[in-house]
Amino acid sequence: PFLPLFTILTYLLISISCDLNPWPPSIPIHIQSSPIAPRLHNDLSSLKTASLDYGNLVHTPPLSVLRPSSIDDLIALVRISNNCSSPFPISVRGHGHSVRGQAMAPGGVVVDISALAKGGEGVRVSRDPVLGFHYADVGGGEVWMDVLRRCTEEHGLAPVSWTDYLYLTVGGTLSNGGISGQSFLHGPQISNVLEMDVVTGKGELITCSHEMNSELFFAVLGGLGQFGIIVRARIVLEKAPTRAKWVRMIYNDFSKFTRDQEHLISIKGANYVEGSLLTDKSPPNNWRSSSFYSSSHQSKIGTLLKNNQGLLYSIELVKYYDDLTANTIDQEIEMIIENLSFVDGFIFKRDVPIMDFLARVGNLDKPEAEPAAHPWLNLFVPRWEDRMSAVTPDENIFYTLGLLHTCEPHELGYFEDQNNEIIKFCEEAGIEIKQYLPHYKSRKDWMKHFGRKWKTFEERKMKFDPRMILSRGQNIFNHVT
Ligand code: FAD
Repeated sequence: PFLPLFTILTYLLISISCDLNPWPPSIPIHIQSSPIAPRLHNDLSSLKTASLDYGNLVHTPPLSVLRPSSIDDLIALVRISNNCSSPFPISVRGHGHSVRGQAMAPGGVVVDISALAKGGEGVRVSRDPVLGFHYADVGGGEVWMDVLRRCTEEHGLAPVSWTDYLYLTVGGTLSNGGISGQSFLHGPQISNVLEMDVVTGKGELITCSHEMNSELFFAVLGGLGQFGIIVRARIVLEKAPTRAKWVRMIYNDFSKFTRDQEHLISIKGANYVEGSLLTDKSPPNNWRSSSFYSSSHQSKIGTLLKNNQGLLYSIELVKYYDDLTANTIDQEIEMIIENLSFVDGFIFKRDVPIMDFLARVGNLDKPEAEPAAHPWLNLFVPRWEDRMSAVTPDENIFYTLGLLHTCEPHELGYFEDQNNEIIKFCEEAGIEIKQYLPHYKSRKDWMKHFGRKWKTFEERKMKFDPRMILSRGQNIFNHVT
């Protein structure tokens, strides 16, 4: 007989404290008496971690950090916030590799979803009984590296679409897009998801797919964390290749460089195509794959760089192969690159196990005494499924331009000005760019970013997170101007 009374009293206490305590100082008190209280961390170290990200440009601590032990903890947290007259913000932190505080929750609770990750142990691989293809069910907090290891080592299978860097979470990249040199062939990662379990901003756990609750499914993909928390995603798999022929070609002519890139994506012979700029400030061997060139190749490229005013272009292409295709792979590569216009003698080839290629960036998460700032600007995109929240320019061929700056705090102003100048130049020249991993300060700019999709984006927010609880670090619905 005491139990229901106790439950009612607890509920009343929570509701009363929500209503009586002025917003925002005392969120943890609101939830102290709830079952998730032991998983809330208010120590300085937890709060500090939650107020940092890769960009190191925004630092806003939450009031508390939840390390959930189950999906029920997430549901409970979202419901408690909903029950407050002034709901507190909740943001999921995947691996914290945003650059502008997108995974932060000023005055609210950050969910450290890595607490639910099992280092790939929870990845379940299955085969569709009717269509015969394979897929993996993975937790939203798992990092892609663990998903890859689990799928290849135990099943000889692998997802088809990747990011260059694999220490990012499944939920984090699916909230944005997940792009790399395979996107021209398979689409971004968000195009290779079959089903998801999502905890919405109303605290409902919903399974969604193309056919089932499809509005939520498409809202969440590329949805910047606005509609729900991805707790499981079903990812398309294919037979994992075993080796990769990895080729880089250097250009000193921009038109030839872009023409060849467009040719390569149109013939679809390679498994991966990406271009990059080489400058005297960004050497041939950089953080994106530090060991590709031998020292003699580096000095050969260095000399060419000097002779070309410190600017060259590089196309990187990869063709996967295995024992069955080992005899023909060199011939296939020759056919792909015939008639390309790179500088004579400036083609470099490596033959590596597939893991060496996919994991080429390594793990960048080393503790640094003075972390650098990363004022990145990513602009772009190719044609994707229109019902997804992610927005793309309205053209057939798109380039992804990633300006991945690393700088000391005193250089920040210079790079921020440069980024703004590029955006202004595009606006004035009528180049309709879209930002990838977007960052805006005003509602007007967000509306412009989403363009014709804004109305749907806003309607979906009202439907799935009407009290605007989730992912306020993106500054979309809690803008100041
Ligand atoms: P976080 O930064 O933790 O979160 C990002 C956003 O997603 C936040 O709004 C957060 O609240 C939300 N979110 C996180 N998890 C969930 C979830 N489970 N459910 C709902 N919302 C959630 N991107 C590419 O596409 N290709 C690349 O090759 C690539 N390389 C990168 C390399 C580096 C070194 C870095 C720093 C970033 C790179 N990115 C790349 C960008 C990256 O994909 C995004 O920043 C991504 O959001 C990072 O994932 P995360 O797990 O760190 O997410």
